[in-house]
Amino acid sequence: MRAGLQPLILIVEDETDLVTLLTYNLEKEGFRTVAAYDGDEAVLIATERRPDLVLLDWMLPHRSGLDVCRQLRRGPKTRDIPIIMLTARGEETDRVRGLDSGADDYVVKPFSTTELLARVRAVMRRAAPSMADEVLRCGDVVMDLASHRVRRDGRDIHLGPTEFRLLRHFMQHPGRVFSREQLLDVVWGHDVYVEPRTVDVHIRRLRKALNETDETDLIRTVRSAGYALDSQAA
Ligand code: CA
Repeated sequence: MRAGLQPLILIVEDETDLVTLLTYNLEKEGFRTVAAYDGDEAVLIATERRPDLVLLDWMLPHRSGLDVCRQLRRGPKTRDIPIIMLTARGEETDRVRGLDSGADDYVVKPFSTTELLARVRAVMRRAAPSMADEVLRCGDVVMDLASHRVRRDGRDIHLGPTEFRLLRHFMQHPGRVFSREQLLDVVWGHDVYVEPRTVDVHIRRLRKALNETDETDLIRTVRSAGYALDSQAA
């Protein structure tokens, strides 16, 4: 994996609603995404961008996902890329199971986001053990995603689950300013109604946990815009 970059996932699916949903959920978990809407585009993008994983739908226009899977397995630049096939419920599941298509795993539609993300992580862990056990760093703050541990300047930082998610999001996008609404969406999810000022409460808790009195405040308040985590600080 290329150091310093979040894993790139190629989504191959012709249903735009599903692409949108997958993109949203994968990016929320810190992955980068790129989409292809048919098989030829998929092969082109996979060869050029060398994604860390391909989510490949079986039912595609012009040529099937299975055919694309076989071509990716033959290509010298794409043969090692992990592939998860997306299949409709029914006979195709058995066919995927039975056929030696070269896919690493498959997920049956309709699937839950939780299930898909678990499969993505499992396949990536097998392909590149360092990728799933990811460690985020920003200044003197280190976040170990696998063990959920956070340290600043060598000391343990204890965070509640909401503060942990907030910090993870900031550490995945250092320097970027997020509005309260964006943070609500990412950290609480967009189905939940939470008042924007709730964000301020959790930011205050996060600051208190992160910063000792003599330390630089890593979280920057941007007047009338929101908050950011400064990578240059500390
Ligand atoms: Ca499809």
